[in-house]
Amino acid sequence: MTAATTIATGSPPDLDAFREQARAWLREHAPAPSPVTDIEAARAFQAALYDAGFAGITWPQDVGGRGLSTAYQQAFSDEEAEYELPTYPFTIGMGMCGPTVNDLGTPEQRTRYLPRLLRGEDIWCQLFSEPGAGSDVASLQTRAVLDGDSWVVDGQKVWTTNAQWADFGALLARTDPDRPKHSGLTMFVVDMHAPGVTVRPLKDMSGRAPFNEIYFDSVRIPADAVIGEVNGGWHAAVTMLGHERVSIGSRRRPKTNPLDFTAIAALAQRLGVSGEPATRERLAELYARERVLELFNVRLRQEAAAGIAPGARGSVAKLAGSMLARLAVDTVGEIAGPEIVAWDPEDTTGAAVALGINSTPSSSIAGGTNEIQRGIIGERVLGLPKEPSVDKGVPFRELKVGTQK
Ligand SMILES: Cc1cc2nc3c(=O)[nH]c(=O)nc-3n(C[C@H](O)[C@H](O)[C@H](O)COP(=O)(O)OP(=O)(O)OC[C@H]3O[C@@H](n4cnc5c(N)ncnc54)[C@H](O)[C@@H]3O)c2cc1C
Repeated sequence: MTAATTIATGSPPDLDAFREQARAWLREHAPAPSPVTDIEAARAFQAALYDAGFAGITWPQDVGGRGLSTAYQQAFSDEEAEYELPTYPFTIGMGMCGPTVNDLGTPEQRTRYLPRLLRGEDIWCQLFSEPGAGSDVASLQTRAVLDGDSWVVDGQKVWTTNAQWADFGALLARTDPDRPKHSGLTMFVVDMHAPGVTVRPLKDMSGRAPFNEIYFDSVRIPADAVIGEVNGGWHAAVTMLGHERVSIGSRRRPKTNPLDFTAIAALAQRLGVSGEPATRERLAELYARERVLELFNVRLRQEAAAGIAPGARGSVAKLAGSMLARLAVDTVGEIAGPEIVAWDPEDTTGAAVALGINSTPSSSIAGGTNEIQRGIIGERVLGLPKEPSVDKGVPFRELKVGTQK
């Protein structure tokens, strides 16, 4: 089965038949888990996924998607949760950059970038955070100055996930320092292989280097690489952050992941504690929260398909996801007891659990911290009073931000 044959059929396929096709395809093609560093294998798998018609299930057909409803995406997600697919390098592109280009890009940008993304030909990263601008990303100092028919970019980004593999980045830069900080920003597509771009890996406490610091030294970006409007970058950033929160919040761990409910319940059984009331209570809470979040995400996806933007409720999904990850880690700790720090070196589950424990704290920071999500939910979902803003209307140039001149 190829995308060409499945897409050409016109009317949507029967949902049960689609699920059966997905199940059969994954059974035959899902590779054994491999290190995420095998980037060529990841690209090849993404291409195969596309050819089979399972990439961009809800994306528009004019950019290579299948234009199907979220019910089909849900069916595929249910089936893929049985496996650990090597799609991680494409998460930023598929979950954040692609949907933003689809929403705000020109017709030319949509057809240039989106089909390649779906086919695994390009990997994308998100270039927002800087050493002095994370939660308050509008304080960023990377500059883009128009010079003839191109922009010249200078500055530094940090914590950029997957930039070590990226072909393109969605860059937020300051294009007018005389405007207030939110209204002098522009979003660009930057070629990560362009002269003047330097990518340096950063290690986290798990020992891996999942993110990077990036230096831009007089990097030239063509004028047609602006996403949305010049000085309209804040709108583009908010659009992407909305997609990011839904994407992170709805990311499902494969059932083979040691921090998934199924794996934790199996661990409790293996250690002979699954019958203990305290363990049962913990497992029940974990299951209930995992299920509630799953259903909340189904609702967000259905609404998105009906044209209702998730808005601030994406923050609910993101916050709930990071709290769930923390609960999973705590539950594993309580079940495993002292073994949590002294696994048998031969036991691969132990190594995977240790990696999960060391990686979990980042989930309450990446994509906006828990405090920031709570602030958004308070103001925009619950209607509580707004956080005071001391720099509203003040030109960025007059603010005392970092070392800016
Ligand atoms: C694993 C990981 C991957 C990441 N990937 C990317 C990426 O691909 N691209 C990218 O651009 N960035 C990325 N980031 C950066 C991430 O977006 C920022 O780390 C995050 O927004 C927080 O910014 P900061 O680190 O500068 O902390 P700060 O903003 O300095 O915050 C420090 C502390 O102050 C609190 N705080 C700040 N402001 C408020 C407020 N108004 N109200 C209440 N509390 C507040 C925060 O909650 C936090 O506890 C990644 C981060 C991690 C951990």
